[in-house]
Amino acid sequence: MMLTGMHVAIIGGDARQLEVIRKLVELDAKLSLVGFDQLAHHFTRAVKLPIDEVDFADLDAIILPVHGTTLDGNVNSVFSQEPIPFTEEMVQKTMKRCTIYSGISNSYLDDLVRKTGRKHVQLFERDDVAIYNSIPTAEGTIMMVIQHTDFTIHGSHVAVLGLGRVGMTVARTFAALGAKVKVGARRSEHLARITEMGLVPFHLNDLEKEVRDIDICINTIPHLIVTASVIAKMPAHTLIIDLASKPGGTDFRYAEKRGVKAILAPGLPGVVAPKTAGQIIANVLAQLLYQDLQKREENK
Ligand code: NAP
Repeated sequence: MMLTGMHVAIIGGDARQLEVIRKLVELDAKLSLVGFDQLAHHFTRAVKLPIDEVDFADLDAIILPVHGTTLDGNVNSVFSQEPIPFTEEMVQKTMKRCTIYSGISNSYLDDLVRKTGRKHVQLFERDDVAIYNSIPTAEGTIMMVIQHTDFTIHGSHVAVLGLGRVGMTVARTFAALGAKVKVGARRSEHLARITEMGLVPFHLNDLEKEVRDIDICINTIPHLIVTASVIAKMPAHTLIIDLASKPGGTDFRYAEKRGVKAILAPGLPGVVAPKTAGQIIANVLAQLLYQDLQKREENK
């Protein structure tokens, strides 16, 4: 599987993008790198250039950072001082088949994609990426818990909320460390799966009752679920780690008022394992770009 003949622009990002660059160079793609001027490393077949010198008409794909753009249409890069503008006008210059890749999207990027009619792939919506990413997320959660408790995970009572891709990995990982893990979900097939995993299931309707004896609460549900009345039932020493995307699912104001430590911990893969997190993105991107290339060859 090679990407010979493909021209890809990689615009901005953080350490994770270096793994993407490495992988695509290895697969012989031609790369235009924007926003990497402070990166000392030089790659063969990868040219660093400012955004206004990119030959958009020649591009097969544009790879944006995990967060895509800012709401005002710039791309951030940790390897450059200047914000990089990313506009509709630039994308209009590309061929119809040019695909835009990012981790997640926002209203600016959605709008740009709609107006230009280009294909946009949000990598973090993919099951494979979410499942791979749940591994560094669980490890980062362990790190947070160790940092913020004076007792071992082993033997502690942990409630995990949600049995999605993150919840399942987190529940399994804490159980493997010897914690007594219960998992809250609302679907009966999830409750069945939790039982199958050898963990204790409970329905989220019973959350208030179930948190009375816990030491640690790990939330993965991106809705307000750890409400004031739930927090009020927890022992005062309970540590809440909220993994759900911003603003999380915890009433942080009430937690603070009650003196229960609650921490929103977003983006753990990029924090604890940027290299692995980058490789996860790079491997999936390589496959998707290869499919794009095959389609291009078929349509010739
Ligand atoms: P997921 O697979 O979609 O799982 C979400 C879970 O939440 C599902 O079990 C779902 O149950 C449940 N849920 C959703 N809305 C609910 C509601 N209103 N009431 C009760 N349960 C509800 O998502 P994921 O991949 O596990 O990700 C979970 C969250 O973690 C996301 O916000 C994601 O952005 C974030 N995340 C954070 C990190 C980090 O480093 N902190 C890393 C990766 C992901 P149902 O099936 O019943 O709807």
